[in-house]
Amino acid sequence: MIRVGIPRALLYYQYYPMWKTFFEGLGAEVVVSPPTTQALLASGSSRVVADTCLPAKVFCGHVLALVDKCDYIFIPAIRSVKRKIYNCSKFLGLPDMTKAVIPESPTILDIDIDINKGKRELYQAIYKLGRRFTWNPFKVRKAATAAWQAHLEYEELMINEGLTPPQAIARLSEAETPSLAPAKASIALIGHPYLLYDEHINHRLTHRLEQAQYKVLTPEMLSAEQLELAITRLTGGAYWTYEEEVVGAGGHYLEGGVEGVIGVVAFGCGPDSLMMDMVQRQAIRLGTTPFMSLTLEEHTAEAGVVTRLEAFLDMIQRRKRRQAEVCA
Ligand code: SF4
Repeated sequence: MIRVGIPRALLYYQYYPMWKTFFEGLGAEVVVSPPTTQALLASGSSRVVADTCLPAKVFCGHVLALVDKCDYIFIPAIRSVKRKIYNCSKFLGLPDMTKAVIPESPTILDIDIDINKGKRELYQAIYKLGRRFTWNPFKVRKAATAAWQAHLEYEELMINEGLTPPQAIARLSEAETPSLAPAKASIALIGHPYLLYDEHINHRLTHRLEQAQYKVLTPEMLSAEQLELAITRLTGGAYWTYEEEVVGAGGHYLEGGVEGVIGVVAFGCGPDSLMMDMVQRQAIRLGTTPFMSLTLEEHTAEAGVVTRLEAFLDMIQRRKRRQAEVCA
């Protein structure tokens, strides 16, 4: 059986159930790289220049972890999935960058996705990818339809049941999701999914908040309409793919319903520096919900993240007590 490797990084958190269903529908076995470790991150960092953003370094580490474990690695070049809204340039050049810095990589299955070129181009790209596995166009079509269904089911689990992507992936694979102690209040985490859900690079941020009995809300739990509405109110419309998830979700959560908002940023990320600044300005403008920005990089110390998180949660508790006293 042909084995297709999927790196557990970057777009994995958005599209894994869809990609897995597609390749399995074509008769392939899907192999995922293991969760990020310090050694994996160090191996990825050693292949790229120092000022590359942290998630791209992590991605290279995951590709290296798949060398010798699969026949192909799936690395799409996703330019745009919504009309006139574009991905960061790193995503566009991901297959080429990987070929250049990891020459020992198994053959890369790359596919160009740009919705602005029309649906016909998209379908052709999917058939071209499917032809690596079968010459039967009906089989490719069936696999693509099943993949889209899996994606919708995945999104529904996050929006309707408030699951994070790792929890939704576990649910879809019928693994048990741990039950949590009842939450005291909610904290919103905003940022790219590959920062929010990679427990190694964010030093188990979600886990720490849940341990402190906070319900964690993230951008994936909001519907497309909620995100669009929030971004339109804040900036008039999105240009970057992740603007809705970062600025839109930030704007939405800052307007109420949570005790605090934490923005997670990757060091070396151009789009993030602009987007998180907009959220920060909105937090100051509204003055209702505490906001903290956390920058993650390769050398971010766990103790530093823990200290900042504890201080933020303490501040939220003090604020609540003061409000209760004023009301009394
Ligand atoms: S959006 Fe930022 S963090 Fe993500 S790949 Fe691009 S530069 Fe890196």
